[in-house]
Amino acid sequence: MGANATTVVVVGAGHSGLAMSKRLSDGGIDHVVLERQEVASSWRTQRWDSFTLLTPNWQTTLPGRSYDGDAPDDFMNADEIAGFIRDYGSAISAPVQPNTTVTAVRTTDRGYDVVTDQGTWMCRCVVLASGACNRSNVPPFAAALPADVVQVNPLEYRSPAELPDGGVLVVGAAATGVQLADEIQASGRPVLLSIGEHVRMPRTYRGRDIQHWMDAIGRLDERYDEVEEILKARGVASPQLVGTPERRTLDLNALTERGVQLRGRLGVIRDGVAMFSGGLRNHCALADQKLDRLLDDIDAWITDQALDREVAPAERHERTRVAPDLPLMLDFARGEIRSLVWATGFKPDFSWLELDVFDTAGRLRHDGGVVDAPGVYFLGGTFLRRRKSSFIHGAADDTADLAEHLVGYLAA
Ligand SMILES: Cc1cc2nc3c(=O)[nH]c(=O)nc-3n(C[C@H](O)[C@H](O)[C@H](O)COP(=O)(O)OP(=O)(O)OC[C@H]3O[C@@H](n4cnc5c(N)ncnc54)[C@H](O)[C@@H]3O)c2cc1C
Repeated sequence: MGANATTVVVVGAGHSGLAMSKRLSDGGIDHVVLERQEVASSWRTQRWDSFTLLTPNWQTTLPGRSYDGDAPDDFMNADEIAGFIRDYGSAISAPVQPNTTVTAVRTTDRGYDVVTDQGTWMCRCVVLASGACNRSNVPPFAAALPADVVQVNPLEYRSPAELPDGGVLVVGAAATGVQLADEIQASGRPVLLSIGEHVRMPRTYRGRDIQHWMDAIGRLDERYDEVEEILKARGVASPQLVGTPERRTLDLNALTERGVQLRGRLGVIRDGVAMFSGGLRNHCALADQKLDRLLDDIDAWITDQALDREVAPAERHERTRVAPDLPLMLDFARGEIRSLVWATGFKPDFSWLELDVFDTAGRLRHDGGVVDAPGVYFLGGTFLRRRKSSFIHGAADDTADLAEHLVGYLAA
């Protein structure tokens, strides 16, 4: 296994890495895409059985490729999106080298050495497209969960059948948490859902998918350098949405109707007892208020475009119902809860990146994907450059910007 040389090494052949590969090919820049498994493998290996995208098919686009099927308003399952990305990789003839795991990236006097289990690549630039969601963000106090309670995270969870019979505590009420709480409750296992700050969203509004309006009003195009607190914006949970044929809304009221019991944010587990915050009412009131503000913005846009008569009338949603005096403690010794699902978010795995590019909290230091090391770029992070950055359709604009920066860097 000798050393190879190229101009740019892209780490990861998910949609982000392939979109960058397309930009580099268009610019005539020599590169390779190193992939530890195969193209789009995260959708096959890190999603649950019933998974569907929460973004409609029409929104599933990549540079030079839009959805051209006959169901633009439906939602792809994991196999379908993996197929879409794989076809894209073939269509753009992306130079992917599969089954090649990057084990280290180090600075050299010429640029970087990218060390893999198949040899080392010397290059001037490195694009980190290895995924922003390939580790589960499980809190340290998970270690205090009694050993007889089964704990799983969404990257390993496949279906309710894998959980023991009995109650399940789902922690986290972003898109993943509400979707898993819903299917686990439907399997006959009673679910408690622990909820912190969350983003409530109806599936449809005024007769159109909510993503249609988010797109139309420009919300998804908001830039990272235009929002007030970007670190806070990057920490905002994904919206409570699910993609189903009947286009149902999956907010907390819908879950309550299905029998899911709500609890406050899980603060800690100590001595076999889970402690929940008493702030659920406030969190729900805040989410209701933010939803109203979003719908106000949509209504204003519709009026501005003189579309009021062409779409369904404006509506407002019932406030989130929270029962008074919800329990603040859960004693696992009572045996009601037999398993726990950590739907507490995701983070990237850069354990192989041997560069001085992390802040004291362990986060990658970057400015809109331009990493704090010359010629290194990052893709796919939440609100990386725009609100849509972590979505598939966000890769087109982000890779255009970052490829332009990269070309300038090489020229200098
Ligand atoms: C649960 C969940 C639901 C989502 N739902 C939606 C949705 O509905 N709509 C939407 O638009 N987006 C959605 N996303 C966001 C986003 O589209 C996905 O996270 C997507 O997989 C990110 O693509 P990526 O190319 O950046 O990373 P990935 O798809 O994770 O690809 C990274 C690739 O890098 C490889 N890799 C990692 N480390 C190494 C290494 N050391 N060496 C070599 N290769 C490596 C991996 O094998 C992988 O193939 C969702 C994300 C999650 C987690």
